Amino acid sequence: MRDAQGSHTPSSCEVSSIRRFEEITDSTAKEAEQPLEKEFPILYKNDSECCGCNACYTVCPKDAISMVPNRHGFLYPRIDEAVCVRCGRCLRVCNFKKRLT
Ligand code: SF4
Ligand code: SF4
Repeated sequence: MRDAQGSHTPSSCEVSSIRRFEEITDSTAKEAEQPLEKEFPILYKNDSECCGCNACYTVCPKDAISMVPNRHGFLYPRIDEAVCVRCGRCLRVCNFKKRLT
């Protein structure tokens, strides 16, 4: 969200995702190299389960996530299954998803 001067003010969703991102990036390098999740991650089932905060895109250690516009032009993450190593970082950083469960 931008104010009248054009400065970006993070939404509460963005702030909590940034906190989760900082927690996860603080994890040890050893943990980052270990697969934590075996299944292919499902970040959202419909657009209402994702606020497009970019946290998963930013935290992915393999650059497996692209932000792709939906039919309204809003960006949502898409995972390249061939590149994803199922580490689970994207799921763990998603604070928006935690609010739904
Ligand atoms: S899936 Fe979660 S972390 Fe990724 S953009 Fe959507 S709300 Fe943010
Ligand atoms: S599981 Fe890991 S490698 Fe796969 S998209 Fe998520 S963060 Fe990237």
